[in-house]
Amino acid sequence: MAELDCIFCKIVSGELPAQKIHQDELVTAFRDIHPLAPVHILIIPNKHLPNMNDLHPEHAAIAARMLIVVPELARQEGIADGGYRLILNTGVDANQVVMHVHMHMLGGSRMQYPMG
Ligand code: AMP
Repeated sequence: MAELDCIFCKIVSGELPAQKIHQDELVTAFRDIHPLAPVHILIIPNKHLPNMNDLHPEHAAIAARMLIVVPELARQEGIADGGYRLILNTGVDANQVVMHVHMHMLGGSRMQYPMG
């Protein structure tokens, strides 16, 4: 069920515009509006789940799909060989801003570790 005031639910439904690069019945991927790397994609479940703490065994297919699309998107974006970083910010200490599970996929240039 979509949350009325969730911007990522609105991106899934098409109510808000986004540069979508993938959508299937379980997940959507689109370009981050403030990219932190040459390639910065967000991969999200279509279902509204506020953060990783809301992930339960019944969401196994969604969690798997979020990972399974990664290599396909990496090849599509030309970053499969160079590599990339996946980040799932969860909660206040991780500075999660949007309360809808999203996995950042960052690549296209050499990164420092860790990020601040
Ligand atoms: P986080 O800090 O992990 O919650 O990251 C949220 C991310 O969502 C940030 O990188 C934002 O730039 C990105 N973001 C917020 N609104 C939009 C939007 N309308 N379209 C694309 N990316 C967005």
